[in-house]
Amino acid sequence: MIADLSAADLEAFGARIQADYDAFRARGLKLDMTRGKPAPEQLDLAEGMLALPGNRDHLTEAGEDARNYGGVQGVAEVRALFSGTLGAKPERIVVGDNASLAMMHDSIVWALLKGVPGSAKPWGRESEIAFLCPVPGYDRHFAICEEYGIRMIPVPMTGHGPDMAKVEELVRDPAVKGMWCVPKYSNPSAESYSDETVRRLASMKTGAPDFRLFWDNAYVLHHLTDERREILNVLDACADAGNPDRAFVFASTSKMTLAGAGLAFFASSEANVKWYLARASKRTIGPDKLNQLRHVRFLRDEAGLVAHMDKHRALLAPKFQTVTDALTSRLANQGAARWIKPDGGYFVSVDVTEGAASRVVALAKDAGLLLTAAGATWPYGKDPHDSNLRLAPSYPSLSDVKAASEGIALCILLAAIESESA
Ligand code: PLP
Repeated sequence: MIADLSAADLEAFGARIQADYDAFRARGLKLDMTRGKPAPEQLDLAEGMLALPGNRDHLTEAGEDARNYGGVQGVAEVRALFSGTLGAKPERIVVGDNASLAMMHDSIVWALLKGVPGSAKPWGRESEIAFLCPVPGYDRHFAICEEYGIRMIPVPMTGHGPDMAKVEELVRDPAVKGMWCVPKYSNPSAESYSDETVRRLASMKTGAPDFRLFWDNAYVLHHLTDERREILNVLDACADAGNPDRAFVFASTSKMTLAGAGLAFFASSEANVKWYLARASKRTIGPDKLNQLRHVRFLRDEAGLVAHMDKHRALLAPKFQTVTDALTSRLANQGAARWIKPDGGYFVSVDVTEGAASRVVALAKDAGLLLTAAGATWPYGKDPHDSNLRLAPSYPSLSDVKAASEGIALCILLAAIESESA
């Protein structure tokens, strides 16, 4: 433990780590571990899709011409293909274009302008509204709230989902209209919600009758181990608890097929789907159905989808292993950082000692290594403890991930030594 070292030992250790850091910086590397993008090799896995659906193949099973306008809810066989993954019947699914974030954004804007089923008035006409934001969380969720003036209330994650005692207390306030949830392999902590967490979210008493869970299941099939974690079906849990309209479920194929040209999904209760489609059909005459057909032709069925995700896993798992190996070999038992080895998702979340995260990011930048800004995993970009770092190893090559991980471990050690010496 760094904290237990004598002054002389601390100085000697600091000199050694400083020398290692200087050597790392002298390599003049340009490394980027900031965003959870698929690597080119992952996109190559879906290269075959670009030739689909192919000449003269433009009819859906129902005989609709996918080249034409229409079909706002999405092609029926596409909804059937993703029904198991989304945990909803095909009639309770809407297929959007390429970004689930856009569907989340639209749902919030429509809630502000029109209200949702069960609203007494549009959310935007309330004097103030708030969302619960489990932390660490996804910066783009927080950016939507910030954009539209929705107050964000952080709630700590526990290792099996958000702190439910806090959540249950906070949702009694009628101003709390929603909550962001990334229930499986969360961004960035990689934790998955326990069955009890899902049941409590589904059944808790909320002050707002039109409260919604924004259930962003972005990493639903993104396993990194054989375990293939399953979580409780939130739509069923909400229906069983007598709150059938509580959850808006979102997901996409951004990190299954092509991040810029995938399919996004909204799944929910009958009333919510009707509500969504009524708004969506004012916004568009229909989505890109050729891309929907392309996905069915390429993936074929749920087994095809799972097999495709195994190929992603084969590319991603070694990168995650490399990060956690480097952290373990440099940082184990030093008291400078805590992390967990993700069993799915796209991130490694590292908690360094209080007040050290921005220093680590600055040291890394100075050595040619870009990390996500400290604070990004908190609402308003402000981590009150300045301790959480989000590492995104998917995009760089394996050798770059190895170099970057070594560099990150050195920066964390150096920042810890500096604050211990201060
Ligand atoms: N939701 C989460 C939790 C994410 O981490 C990401 C991307 O990193 C997205 C949504 C973006 O999804 P999409 O590409 O479908 O807009």
